[in-house]
Amino acid sequence: MMPLPIRLLREVPPRLLWKFAVGAGLGNLRAIRRFERRKKRGVVFPPFVFVSVTQRCNLVCKGCWATGVGDPSDMPPELLHAVVTGSRAQGCRFFGILGGEPLLLPWLTDFFGEHRDSYFQLFTNGQLLDDATAGRLRRSGNVSPLISIEGGAESYADRRGNGRAYAKALEALACCKRHGLVTGVATSVSVSTYADVVTPAFIDGMVARGAHYVWYYIYRPSGPEPGFNEALDDAQVRALRQFLLEQRRRCKSAVIIDAYWDHEGHALCPAATGISHHINARGGVEPCPPVQCCDCRVGTAGDVVSTVAESPFLEAFRTTVPGLTRGCVLMDHPSELAALAARCGACDSSGRGRFFEELASRPVLGCHNHSGEPLPETSWSYRFAKKHWFFGFGAYG
Ligand code: SF4
Repeated sequence: MMPLPIRLLREVPPRLLWKFAVGAGLGNLRAIRRFERRKKRGVVFPPFVFVSVTQRCNLVCKGCWATGVGDPSDMPPELLHAVVTGSRAQGCRFFGILGGEPLLLPWLTDFFGEHRDSYFQLFTNGQLLDDATAGRLRRSGNVSPLISIEGGAESYADRRGNGRAYAKALEALACCKRHGLVTGVATSVSVSTYADVVTPAFIDGMVARGAHYVWYYIYRPSGPEPGFNEALDDAQVRALRQFLLEQRRRCKSAVIIDAYWDHEGHALCPAATGISHHINARGGVEPCPPVQCCDCRVGTAGDVVSTVAESPFLEAFRTTVPGLTRGCVLMDHPSELAALAARCGACDSSGRGRFFEELASRPVLGCHNHSGEPLPETSWSYRFAKKHWFFGFGAYG
């Protein structure tokens, strides 16, 4: 297979490639520099903002934080506009757009076209990403779809309750390829998907279908049906880390992304570093999507910066969590997370009204903070990118 730079030159139109390089590359570097300067002045506003634009979804996946919402909300376009414009004024250029399923919002593709000086990573299950939608994304030129493909058809039937969804997600990947979009595939690794996705064949298969990057998540059981037995154990996490290191040396046709370890192999939590936060569909500002509680809400009045910077819960999260774990506090210290939220007066923002009960019944689980010596990056390019640039792609946890 061709090396990634050649693939990008051959598969992506120059206008889209330029927007990707400036929006997701140079723009991220500048955003990180401004973040560091702000931090020195005592103002914490992240360089990357992740926004869930709807709580609705056309799939019902086990263990997803977006399930079980009684009265799901959509973010009004004017609120998303205020978030993007306010963050843009702080030098942020790269936005993660999540849901639910973001493409359920008919206005979203036009929105991207109205914010061409920003770059958007669109987290989608691919069920609505047809040729017409891919064509609109190509016209705006500033969107990289990240299609979640979780194992094969059997995993879909089991985890997503819909075996046909697998074929649809693959069709979406084909549409993106036809339209020359810079495209990623995201896969969350759980006990039952491990054998399907932690293989060179999975990566090569996704690359052959058009993926330019493959992003591995470690399954975070959430929502009303968490499936704690699907969480990886310590040995599996360490083996996954080893696999990623090997694939980065082997596969030159795509970028292999993880959001869990720095260049020296030390675990980290992006929310605890202050490098990213998550704004939910109702404007609530959460540390990250599965930690569904907040003490502040952004509005349409351009208050995103002051709201985030002055949140006692977010500040306490940044100062307290590193003392508890280098990994994921939701997984390995759920009761301490509940106590922290209670101390700060944070409210349930899940839409289910049961987040704190769910938190109280969570067992202590392993996470990416695996035992044994850290496993440093062995590919010089990833090592360099993670050291100087890591958080640009590691903001989601
Ligand atoms: S490591 Fe856990 S708490 Fe931190 S951002 Fe990721 S999911 Fe959230």
